[in-house]
Amino acid sequence: MNVEVIAVGTELLLGQIANTNGQFISQRLALMGYNCYFHTVVGDNEERLLSVIENAVKRADILLFTGGLGPTKDDITKEVIAEYLNCKLVYDEPSLQSILDYYKKVNRIPAENNKKQALVIEGSEAFFNDNGMAPGMAKQVDGKTYILLPGPPTEMKPMFQKVEDYFIKNIETDGKIYSRVLKFFGIGESQLEAELADIITNQTNPTVAPLAAEGEVTLRLTAKAESQEEAMSLIDRTESTIKAIVGDYLYGYDQDTLDAKVFSLLKKAQLTIASAESLTGGLFGNTLTAHTGASSVYKGGVICYQNEIKEHILHVPQTVLTNEGAVSAACAEQLARNVRKLFCSQIGISFTGVAGPSELEGKSVGTVYVGISIEGKGEKVIPLQLAGTREQIKMRSAKHGFSELIRLLKFNE
Ligand code: ATP
Repeated sequence: MNVEVIAVGTELLLGQIANTNGQFISQRLALMGYNCYFHTVVGDNEERLLSVIENAVKRADILLFTGGLGPTKDDITKEVIAEYLNCKLVYDEPSLQSILDYYKKVNRIPAENNKKQALVIEGSEAFFNDNGMAPGMAKQVDGKTYILLPGPPTEMKPMFQKVEDYFIKNIETDGKIYSRVLKFFGIGESQLEAELADIITNQTNPTVAPLAAEGEVTLRLTAKAESQEEAMSLIDRTESTIKAIVGDYLYGYDQDTLDAKVFSLLKKAQLTIASAESLTGGLFGNTLTAHTGASSVYKGGVICYQNEIKEHILHVPQTVLTNEGAVSAACAEQLARNVRKLFCSQIGISFTGVAGPSELEGKSVGTVYVGISIEGKGEKVIPLQLAGTREQIKMRSAKHGFSELIRLLKFNE
């Protein structure tokens, strides 16, 4: 099954916004094992949208549109597709009712174009919009499936779940497709590929596809089988083989992230953590506090950017700073232990290093030390030599911190 993703909106062509919907949809299609060979972006123009549709039906089984379902004159996606399919537009009653209820609540009379948002292509399955007014829809005609989704990512992303359900129920494939994503950290894409070369080349069911992103590597295992059970057992078997080779670097599955994993492990073990961040400037704390309920595990932190803060707030001895430097294993160790004590937490973590672009204390760009202190267990310092831009070095350092915490917390489980 081939899908073509068509983003509609002149603002995309003008570069006013990036086509993040395209990226999100492609990632989700890949997880489901659908092929996506073309992405098209077209402005809010009837003639050009029609020509995009004419081309897309020649090369794709599923045309997936985002944008242009709103109330304004330039929102023309469903009108143009309805015209192309020679279908009428009709009101989706639950969506219309929800729009009318909204206007009643705010004591206003809806204009015709507000109600227009509830129109769907006749005979389509409507996807109710839980986060906006315009429903999405799916319509099958002559073996092709047309999926229409709203443009705002806050509406489109949650609705995509309904599209996935629709695909599972309605799209005929020879066997069902199931995927599992294995997530690795601490191993590069080329090393992973080299270690798994035989499996990646010779495996056909499941297929094994590596993908690198933001210092991490994922492997998507996609199996085709008559039943979910059969597909899962094919995936399980290949996963075991992979784990035997590179299992040390595996930290999670599918939507797992390093920080979410740390958060849940800390929560489960009822442990608290504090951070002393020089190099990362608060990135570790910021990432951990993105999780609702982070206060149950994260006590707080010190952004100890200048040496005077390292010395006076976090009590790194002046001799360490003078003799070994702020970018040193000794400093990372002191920072981790002292922040743990200062915040009365069971774990302390520290980050010190050279983000660049210039070297520091005679140490090269990318020299990083991550310190971890665990109450009753002592300190561990991980020396790293990282590559990349300033931002990447900071981000990768924080990820190394999360990854090492997972290792330590799992070991203690
Ligand atoms: P609305 O009801 O807000 O008009 P709509 O379904 O008509 O929604 P558009 O008018 O095309 O969608 O886009 C609304 C907003 O959604 C855009 O201004 C933009 O912020 C966002 N958006 C649209 N398409 C994309 C896209 N492909 N990627 C990221 N954001 C998008």
